[in-house]
Amino acid sequence: MKVKISPICPESSLNLGGVILIRGEDFKEVPDIPEVRNAVDKGYLEVLKEEKKKTKSVKKEGSEVLVFAEQRNNKIARVVFELLGKARELADKLNVKLATILLTEKDNGLSNQLIQYGADRVYLAENSLLKNYQTELYTKVIVEHIKKTKPQIVIYGATNIGRDLAPRIAQRITTGLTADCTGLDITEEGLLLQTRPAFGGNIMAQIVCPKHRPQMATIRPGVMKAKEKDKKRNGETIRVEVKISEKDKKTEIIKIIRETKKKVNLEEAKIIVSGGRGLGKKENFKLIEELASLLNAEVGASRAAVDAGWISKEHQVGQTGKTVRPKLYLAIGISGSIQHKAGMQNSDLIIAINKDPEAPIFQIADYGIVDDLFKIVPEMIKQLKQ
Ligand code: FAD
Repeated sequence: MKVKISPICPESSLNLGGVILIRGEDFKEVPDIPEVRNAVDKGYLEVLKEEKKKTKSVKKEGSEVLVFAEQRNNKIARVVFELLGKARELADKLNVKLATILLTEKDNGLSNQLIQYGADRVYLAENSLLKNYQTELYTKVIVEHIKKTKPQIVIYGATNIGRDLAPRIAQRITTGLTADCTGLDITEEGLLLQTRPAFGGNIMAQIVCPKHRPQMATIRPGVMKAKEKDKKRNGETIRVEVKISEKDKKTEIIKIIRETKKKVNLEEAKIIVSGGRGLGKKENFKLIEELASLLNAEVGASRAAVDAGWISKEHQVGQTGKTVRPKLYLAIGISGSIQHKAGMQNSDLIIAINKDPEAPIFQIADYGIVDDLFKIVPEMIKQLKQ
């Protein structure tokens, strides 16, 4: 939208999310972000008239933004808090409520947690049959809820559960679904703008669903950022009438067996040491593992390293692997293809080690070491041991 500083603003300049406005300047294009909306609401910014009209039409349209609150063992999945962070922004832009739907056996304080992370409203479907995820039962409850409350947007985590559930719901209610989005926003017309890589990551496709409701998307864990928990936030919990019975089940869960091997938890890792084809052979990948263990980090890998059989697929970072957001990402012997970057470019700090100064990874690295990894990594290991 186009804005300029209004006469009642006490400041002579404003910094709104990185865009600097100076009193006396003509109308300037700014993004539609909460800081800007805030300043408009206070009367500190004048909005170009035609923009005002657009904003109004967005506000009038539709009802809630809804997030599927996935739980396992009565614990909310971390991705849900990330989705609430983004959904909060979307709901504020549309001027509608942010709701979540929680299916569980017993609430046990979960709805309160969802409110603390940004939800205005929790629809609580409690039933012993909803204790563990079951495709048919969850689909039935959510489809009925969507038909009744008519949210304009529904988002799900692209977890195993979300990927199973969302397409079924989309089919039952005849709407579209964009899978694995990396960005969500609201267009000037008030539509959900869904961004995701396409054609092998060579383009970022922007997708809208103008004719059907709700607009639905799945988002991979680690892509969005959760807001800080606010213990003082208030919201309402509304009980959902659950009309399911044993007859609706097509499968029976006999026993849940936890995997005993150490789980690779790249999405929640604070530090990731990742290795690529530059390591040359499987035995050399031990260098990455040793460095990771000294830094108390998880081991990541490029697809080239995975395809070569040096490490298992669950370690792969990138478009067809995991999306990560650690505090520190070390990319060693990785060129930085567009598909690899898609999974790690949101890391807080990126350090790359590569002997080729032209390697694309250096375009996004905060620190780069242009040298032979077989010289640098053993030295790092030596110093860390000391
Ligand atoms: P390379 O590109 O071969 O790079 C190796 C790097 O190591 C080079 O830059 C080289 O200079 C450096 N090097 C070599 N020797 C040394 C040394 N001694 N010291 C220091 N540096 C050295 N890739 C992913 O990673 N994740 C994905 O999820 C993914 N999904 C994909 C999906 C699709 C549809 C497609 C088409 C591709 C996908 N890829 C993915 C593959 C991707 O295009 C690249 O092929 C891959 O990322 C390359 O891996 P790399 O960087 O390890 O290897």
